Amino acid sequence: MRQKDVVVCFPFKKEDVDVFSKNIKEALSNKRVKEVILVAYSKNETYQGIENFINTLSKEDKERVHLVLQKRFGTKRREGKGDGMNTAIQYFLEHTDGNFLHFYDADIKSFSSSWIDRVQRRLDEGYDVARCFYPRSYTDAQVTWNITRTGFAYVWPDTILPDIEQPLGGELGFNRHIAEKLSKDNIVLSASDWSIDTAFTISFARYNVKLYEVYIEEGKEHKLYGRLSDLKTMATECFDFIKDNKDLVISTDKMVYHKDELKDIPEKYKHMVAFDIKGSINEFKVGWTPKMKEYLVRYFPREIGEKVNNVLTGKDTEFIDIDLWFESYGVFMKYFDISDKDWRELFFKLWVLRVLNHAKLAIKYPDKAIKHLRTMLTLFRERRMAKRL
Ligand code: GDP
Ligand code: MG
Repeated sequence: MRQKDVVVCFPFKKEDVDVFSKNIKEALSNKRVKEVILVAYSKNETYQGIENFINTLSKEDKERVHLVLQKRFGTKRREGKGDGMNTAIQYFLEHTDGNFLHFYDADIKSFSSSWIDRVQRRLDEGYDVARCFYPRSYTDAQVTWNITRTGFAYVWPDTILPDIEQPLGGELGFNRHIAEKLSKDNIVLSASDWSIDTAFTISFARYNVKLYEVYIEEGKEHKLYGRLSDLKTMATECFDFIKDNKDLVISTDKMVYHKDELKDIPEKYKHMVAFDIKGSINEFKVGWTPKMKEYLVRYFPREIGEKVNNVLTGKDTEFIDIDLWFESYGVFMKYFDISDKDWRELFFKLWVLRVLNHAKLAIKYPDKAIKHLRTMLTLFRERRMAKRL
């Protein structure tokens, strides 16, 4: 039997203590897991609850669990999950002698010890990084599709980056060598907020790693959002990170990328609606400031301004298609400023119109809609490649 050489980290902020405790137990029960690092955002109620839970463990297990507070690594972005993950990497390198570090979200109800085996199997085969991906509702994953994968296609069209299924996935494992590289990488250290997952993804490409994407068939059951506005911070931070790094030259010619074959998505995921559509339309209609309207007129093609007005007056129910999204994306790439609330709100609002266009199609023709998202990536890629010719 192989030695215990895996360290598992759960970053957490505010979570259900019972779900989280069960996940810690699952990790401790895995034959390969040596230690478990829990990185907290603050000493809040969840922290107290988890501290109490640790006290119920056997003396032996207690010594294998480390509850630590996240440190501040980034300086210009919000303190968030990125600081948590970077703290874990530092702790892993300084306080453990594990060969592999895995991350899992704390809120996953379907998590089990076998996820660790499925990730570790690929690392044992020689891949540097193994990352999980899941079946998802056809109306879900809209930050991934319309911000991250499109962004990759826009900025790095001739790489494999846009092909990565779930570049924002927080469940992944890598070897100690990669941990060392990440711990010294300023692009990663600066990604202190929701941009950390994107920072990892582009850095794996920058390092030319061998990457494997592991399909977790049973899906990631975790706390869901109700309205698109719950994703506002995540959407803008993920976009801003790509914009911020748009001048990075990345070639993935030497990278190895394999993934599990995509099985047919279970029917229930095809028809599940991930958010409140009516509520999102109503939310879209309020909160327009004079500055947002001014930006719309000054920087965007006339068609987009007209589109917004027509949605506001109920005259348009088609929202933003992939062509208009490409145009909008280009404008945001040039002018978006995360420190300006009006730009953040405007970005979010146009993204909502893009998501609504997709959701409408997905409800009527699920399979067509998912194909159409792939068409969007091709459109972004081809237009950007053509620009380089
Ligand atoms: P989602 O699954 O993408 O909707 O994001 P979640 O809200 O579930 O967050 C993913 C994981 O990161 C969860 O375990 C959160 O508790 C954790 N998390 C979120 N923000 C922070 C943070 O600021 N610091 C730390 N340490 N963990 C965080
Ligand atoms: Mg979650």
